[in-house]
Order: sequence, then structure tokens, then C-alpha cells
Amino acid sequence: MKKTKIVVLPGDGIGPEVTAVAVDVLKTVCSQFGTELSVKEFPFGGTCYEQYGTPVTEETLEECKKTKVVLLGAVGGPKWDDLNADQRPEAALLKLRKELGVYANLRPITVYPVLAGSSTLKPEVIKGTDILIVRELTGGIYFGRPRFTSDDNGDPFAVDTMKYSRSEVQRVSKVAFEVARLRNGKVCSVDKANVLESSRMWRKSVVELAEDYPDVELSHMLVDNCTMQIIRDPKQFDVMVTGNMFGDILSDAASMLTGSLGMLPSASIGGDNGLYEPVHGSAPDIAGQGVANPLAAVASAALLCRYSLKLEEAAKKIEEAIQSLLSEGMRTADLYTHEPGTKLVNTDEVADYLINFVQTSKVPA
Ligand code: NAD
Repeated sequence: MKKTKIVVLPGDGIGPEVTAVAVDVLKTVCSQFGTELSVKEFPFGGTCYEQYGTPVTEETLEECKKTKVVLLGAVGGPKWDDLNADQRPEAALLKLRKELGVYANLRPITVYPVLAGSSTLKPEVIKGTDILIVRELTGGIYFGRPRFTSDDNGDPFAVDTMKYSRSEVQRVSKVAFEVARLRNGKVCSVDKANVLESSRMWRKSVVELAEDYPDVELSHMLVDNCTMQIIRDPKQFDVMVTGNMFGDILSDAASMLTGSLGMLPSASIGGDNGLYEPVHGSAPDIAGQGVANPLAAVASAALLCRYSLKLEEAAKKIEEAIQSLLSEGMRTADLYTHEPGTKLVNTDEVADYLINFVQTSKVPA
């Protein structure tokens, strides 16, 4: 049996609860497809700060870079909100993404037909939605310098910098164009080119790159309009490519199409490295209660199989298990709407169903 190592960073809040389910499913599925998965776990975020006085240790970063494949839960919580910027749990996340060089964040927004009733939007608007948001992850305003807080005659002010270079824009756009070729052949680039210099650079760079992809239909949309269009008519989108902050906000808005933030997985890739994590945060309001929806973490594990382990069949098996669970009417609290034929379940019940599904369903010869 082939041996593969991954690093798991459970993080804070519901992070450990949802990653535990994802790891169990991942190990079970991988073994069925001839891969023995060995998992090294490290504290990360607030949990790491409590132990080591820093949200991520050098040892953890080194191990992640060496192993190249990382499954992450979520970080943060009110306990650590007042720490200095470089000690906050989120700093660990930004550092890890930067050090791994995972510049393209892929966020699939898939509406499962059986969950159409769980969204706050009308079923006829969202049914059939299948969007892939490709978000630039290691540049833009979350990393730009200068960045500081100061004071102007007693009036405090703060500065952040939004900077994009052509090479940064084109490498992430290339991912979007390539993946569009495997889907419906459409890329919508989202920016704020009517106001921002960095967005005008973004748009020009995307247009230049598009010459290499005459088979892909490119459109542009301003981010404010895009926010509205995602809610008005989400089916118009196939692949969307956008900058770090715009992608952060648009993907949270798009998450509501699926019914819950707890449904959205993500893959961050760059070179041979892959970082897989749910889009949601640490949900401190429900942490420790055993009610978190682990499906975003489990679906992130499917993306890990697809993009890093190159086990497409294993990825599909995990996705089938999720689909089957939802078709059976099992819903964690975030999705539960008292719809007839549905049943409220907790995290453990989801885990048991998924493991049972992957153990008992047939593996292709
Ligand atoms: P959040 O995503 O943690 O929670 C928002 C709401 O969605 C909450 O009501 C929560 O209970 C619910 N929710 C989220 N995931 C769920 C799941 N899997 N199952 C059921 N319900 C779920 O966002 P927030 O409340 O704005 O942030 C909480 C903390 O998480 C903050 O410290 C924030 O900085 C951090 N955060 C971390 C990440 C990350 O690690 N990638 C992302 C976003 C927020």
C-alpha cells in the first residue's frame, strides 16, 4: 500500500470537531484506494498561542512545507481578539498561506438539489447553481505594505495597501482559465476598475492572459454589481476570478446559496503545495456542543484527494457520501428547517453515516 503523509491543523473552536470527522473519512477512503495516510497534528491559532505564545511555531511551518499537504480546521475566537496583530490566530493563517505559496484559493459553490429549501433564497433562483470562485490568496490588501495605524493631531488613522502586479494576477487567472476549460468554459473576472488603480491593473492583466485562451469566454464585473448578481441570478456564473478581499466577501455571500457556511470547502494551491480548509470560521458560539456541521471540512478532504493526492475516485466517493447523507434527510442544526422527511442530527451522527457509507459502498475494481 502506498504511504502518504499529511499535516492536520485542527485549530480553534469547532476546528478540532470538524477536522476529526474529515480525517476519519479521509483515512478510510484512502485505504480503500491503496493509500495509507499518516497524519501529523500540530496546534494552530489560539490553541497554539496558549501553548507557545505564538499562533504558529516555526516547527509547524517547516513540517507543512516539507509535507506539502495540509488539512486545516479554523482559527480564532473572542479570547484572542485583543492580541497584537502578529499574535492573533488569523496571523498564523496568513503566514501559512504565504509560506506555502498557495496563491489560488478554489471555492466551489454547489447547491445540492435536496438542500434548495435550506437557503434563505428561493429554490428556483438557486437550483442548479455551480460556481467555482478562484480567489487570489497571497497578495492584495491583506498583505500589502505600508500598513500601519497612526495619529493626525489627535485623530487616529490607519492605512492598508492594495497592491497587485501583473504576474500575481496572471498566475491566479491562469488557474481560473485552466479550470474553466474543464467546466463550462466561462470566466468572470471581478474587480473595482471604475475606482481602483490596482483593479485597472488586474483587468488589463486578465485581458492579456485571455489571448492564450480563445476557447474560454471572458467577462468582467464590478464587485458591487457582482455581489448583487450572485443573489439575483447565481446560475449565470461558471468560474469567477477575483482578488483576495473581494473573494473573501463574495464567497461568504455565495455560501448562503448552499444553505450554510458549514457546506463550503476550499482548496488553496500553488506549485506542489495544497492547503485544504472549510470556508467557515471557528464558530465559537457552538464550539464544544457537538452540533457543528462537518461537511465543509469533509468536502475539503475530497478536494485534498483530488488536487494533492490525485485520487479522483476517492474524492468522488467522499462527495457521494455527502450527497447520500443529505438525500437521506440528515441535517445538522445549521441546515435543519423542519422540512418533512428530514431529521436533526449532530456531528457524531454525520461522522458515523459517512464512515459507514464509504466502508460499505462499492469501490471500483
Ligand atoms: P464563523 O464562520 O465562525 O461563524 C458564522 C456563523 O456560522 C456562526 O453562527 C456559526 O455558528 C455558523 N457556522 C459556521 N460554521 C459552521 C459549521 N460548520 N456548522 C454550523 N454552523 C456554523 O464566523 P465568525 O463568527 O465571523 O467568526 C468566528 C471566529 O472565526 C472569529 O475569530 C474569526 O476571526 C474566525 N474566522 C476564521 C476563519 C478561518 O479560520 N479560516 C474564517 C472566518 C472567521
